[in-house]
Amino acid sequence: MRSAFSGRAGGAPHDSRGARHPVTVVAEQMTDVLLDLGYRVVEGPEVEAEWFAFDALDMDDDHPGRAPGRAFHLEDPSEPGGRSGLVLRTRTSPAQVRAMLGRTPPLRLVCAGRAFRPDPADTIHSPVFNQVEGLAVDLGLTMVDLKKTLDHFAAAVFGRGTVTRLRTHRAAYTDPSAKVYLECAVCHGVREDVSAGPCGTCGGEGWIEWGWCGTVRPRVLTTCGVDPHRYGAFAFGVGVERTLMLRHGLKDIRDIIGGDIRFPLGMEEFVPGGRPRPAPRPWTTATSRAVPAARAVPDLEIIPLTRGGHGRRGPWGREAGGGLTRSQSLRRRIGHALAGAGYVETPRFPFVCDAAWDAFGLAPDDPRRATLTLTNPITPREPSLRTTLLPGLLAALGLNLTLGNHHPALFEQGVVFAPRTGAAPALPLLADRRPAASRLDALNAAVPAQPSHLAIALTGESSWARAVDAARTAAHVMGAGLITRPTEYPPWLPGRCLELLVGEAVLGHAGELHTATVQALGLPPGTSVMEIDLTTLEHLTDHGST
Ligand SMILES: [Zn+2]
Repeated sequence: MRSAFSGRAGGAPHDSRGARHPVTVVAEQMTDVLLDLGYRVVEGPEVEAEWFAFDALDMDDDHPGRAPGRAFHLEDPSEPGGRSGLVLRTRTSPAQVRAMLGRTPPLRLVCAGRAFRPDPADTIHSPVFNQVEGLAVDLGLTMVDLKKTLDHFAAAVFGRGTVTRLRTHRAAYTDPSAKVYLECAVCHGVREDVSAGPCGTCGGEGWIEWGWCGTVRPRVLTTCGVDPHRYGAFAFGVGVERTLMLRHGLKDIRDIIGGDIRFPLGMEEFVPGGRPRPAPRPWTTATSRAVPAARAVPDLEIIPLTRGGHGRRGPWGREAGGGLTRSQSLRRRIGHALAGAGYVETPRFPFVCDAAWDAFGLAPDDPRRATLTLTNPITPREPSLRTTLLPGLLAALGLNLTLGNHHPALFEQGVVFAPRTGAAPALPLLADRRPAASRLDALNAAVPAQPSHLAIALTGESSWARAVDAARTAAHVMGAGLITRPTEYPPWLPGRCLELLVGEAVLGHAGELHTATVQALGLPPGTSVMEIDLTTLEHLTDHGST
């Protein structure tokens, strides 16, 4: 039976533009640079077992990087305050560990995703940030290969002629390790007018920190089942928000993460290296602090910026252009489709406040209330991890209305966290060998499910019909036919709530928010939302295609 509002909104014209978020766009651009070098995309969970997040990366129990001051820990549900053996990953590297455990070298892997550290937000810090991390495992890899890759990467992201420098630095799972610096594009380290004071961009240093890199420790390789006597391996990582700030001269990371849709709408022009660049200077002689091998790199400017630029090396170029997972490719297409339909991408932090469930009118036993809890949240008011994208998205909708942004229409694609009872098994796996498959299975079974969801929130005329259309758009991209059926499900308004089905599987809901909910959240009447489980939708539509 079709309800009165299950049809399309008569192609209701929408007068405003949409946009994907610049962090998403830049992360994709950086990923694509590495895909062109033959890298393949890997993904991993955001809530991770400590073994993958730390032990496998040679960070033992006493390592400062896993202390509560540096990592969000999840509480053991059966023992309040107790350690669960699960953390929010502090870097994307555990995804590389998982990939190494499941594959045979040679490997070229890129992971783009979110990482978390309990740093309150200020001009340069955010508790949630995005990384792009590369890992190469092959015969005879050296620091020279790493430096060439970084130079190619930097030139592709910041423009031809970008000069990089490595400076030794201690890092978690690489040794030797270095920080990656870019030459200051404003002053090139030379101040023509000394009386004007130091350069405002680099502080007179001439170099700006971009990321980190290094040779993967043999112990990490051994743990992942790779023979360190046979294979060399290097890794590097850069922050996406930091890249965005450096490339576009942004001074405050909070402008990027705050949720004001004027930011993505005003940053639509994204051309890699599209900003005019000053003429490059010759390679500056590295100081004694530089990694010695980097000094030996000749001809830094001759690496071609073409697809598969390292193709002559066999594995480097063999898979040029491929390497994107089906999930990532579908998520990109959904993002483009929704931006084209007038929605603005608004990624939100995953932290939720339990009071949100009361505003939603959820019953005491509603499974969405069963959240994973952090032992050390950024604020005690938001101690839990989201089981739905709606609280964060609706808060952003309210913010944009307060800011006077006309008829905001927002979307987010992100993971939600299913609760789990009990602690992850403590595995004494620090030993220098690959753990048995059964032990890894036990560890994986302790990591909660983290499906990707898509949600939209909007106000204005016909908003409920547009919410249903957004679900149809996502299903269409996935190649699925979506069925809608009237239902009652908080926080939606009875009579204005549809469940979204593919076959018999209920994948989500769309419609208008309950009057009590919009009142509790301070939103205007007629606010509508849709949320759908993309992971299940993807599985239902996976017919062996890639
Ligand atoms: Zn400068």
